[in-house]
Amino acid sequence: MTIGELLTHKTRRNLLIGFFAWLAFAGSMFAAAELGARLLPLVLFIPFISVVIAQMFFVRCPRCNGNLGQLLVQTMAPGSLKKQVKNCPFCGVDFNDHP
Ligand SMILES: [Zn+2]
Repeated sequence: MTIGELLTHKTRRNLLIGFFAWLAFAGSMFAAAELGARLLPLVLFIPFISVVIAQMFFVRCPRCNGNLGQLLVQTMAPGSLKKQVKNCPFCGVDFNDHP
């Protein structure tokens, strides 16, 4: 597995978990009043913010430990927001290399 595949895998996993965590959080805001559990949205916000923090601070270059979390999210953005990244902006290692 190359560095690029490894980082893409981590980012894709975080985006998927984050999406479902956000969905649970958003859904709980509507269901909380009916269920009588007013703190449920607050509890379900924890997994969502945990995934955001994991993506922002713990997706790092395996060579130089540079923080690539935000950059990699941009590589998966839709349309014109999408960015292509071929190497680490901190140490210059090619993402097609092996870690
Ligand atoms: Zn690097």
